[in-house]
Amino acid sequence: MSQLSRRAFLQGSSLAAVGLGLGAPASALAASTPATAPASGPVLLNFNECPHGPCDAARAAVRTIVDQGGRYLFGLRGELVAEVSRLHELPADHIAVYAGSSDPLDRAALAFTGPGRSVVIPDPTFEAVADTAAAHGATVHRVPLRADGSHDVQAMAAADPAAGLVYACNPNNPTGSVTARTDLEWLLANKPAGSVLLVDEAYIEYSGQASMLEHVRAGADLVVLRTFSKLYGMAGLRLGLALGRPDLLARLAAFGGNPLPVTALAAGLASLREPGLVERRRAENAAIREQTIAWLQARGHACLPSQANCFMVDVGGDGKAFTRAMAERGVLVGRSWPVWPSRVRVTVGTAAEMARFREVFAQVVGDAG
Ligand code: PLP
Repeated sequence: MSQLSRRAFLQGSSLAAVGLGLGAPASALAASTPATAPASGPVLLNFNECPHGPCDAARAAVRTIVDQGGRYLFGLRGELVAEVSRLHELPADHIAVYAGSSDPLDRAALAFTGPGRSVVIPDPTFEAVADTAAAHGATVHRVPLRADGSHDVQAMAAADPAAGLVYACNPNNPTGSVTARTDLEWLLANKPAGSVLLVDEAYIEYSGQASMLEHVRAGADLVVLRTFSKLYGMAGLRLGLALGRPDLLARLAAFGGNPLPVTALAAGLASLREPGLVERRRAENAAIREQTIAWLQARGHACLPSQANCFMVDVGGDGKAFTRAMAERGVLVGRSWPVWPSRVRVTVGTAAEMARFREVFAQVVGDAG
């Protein structure tokens, strides 16, 4: 087991001085991060973005549609719904389109939780739904992941018989670890009476996992979320989907509507129609991720198996100090979660970016191997 070099961790100027804002609230961090990564700028492995951005066809579609940007073009949304309907064999009324998946996540918290109706989440996970639920008076039950990184579905089902919402994330952010569909099916069958299961499939395109959409088709108390922010490289363009029974989607829609940016709709359509895009990006990401994890593990830094574009590495010391030390050397990695202070989330970048990550990691932990 390699030891962190305390000297390397403690060296260096304060982050405020280099303007990276780490340790600041997420909003401040987002504001201080460069809008695009210039070739000479920091390596951005901090927000689980796709380093390639939108595919070529999506970029071309955005350029073309921008001339019509003065119009709402409501029909485009219908075109996207038709494409999703065909791809996922879902009726159109089971598909709601949003500007990203954060929006329906928040709406689900508002619709299905509140005082006396708690939310159950795995821990660690993407906490947005829990934060919104807590802000509106709901209790949050955090259920530790199992040792293999999967959701402890039995403990989640038992966490609170009065839960209004049970959140599952598959693959999970920040670990990239997966939960077998049979486990999620067990959770769907055994969740508290009257609750809704929300399965966040933000990273599913990166994995070999089977979606829960089959149970949406079957009319379960289930909402599945998808986003174009990850594999499709559209985090800044903003497009996401909520897939569920019409009465459940109506509960989300009750908080108001908003026309969608035509650029996002055009890029999303082009992405879905691009042959082989998912397979190409999935294979490239997996190869780079596995190479990086093997390198880290050979140096004694444990990582849970991941099927997403991120993984968590045990840095063998204070994760926050590690993140700061990496940032001071121009590599921005993700954060630690309170439950695992010595593990840090790393987004999988390009091969060149991960080579730089390895170089700087070796400097920071003082074990160039
Ligand atoms: N769900 C998960 C699991 C995520 O990791 C993220 C973003 O990182 C989101 C949802 C929200 O992403 P967006 O609003 O860009 O779709």
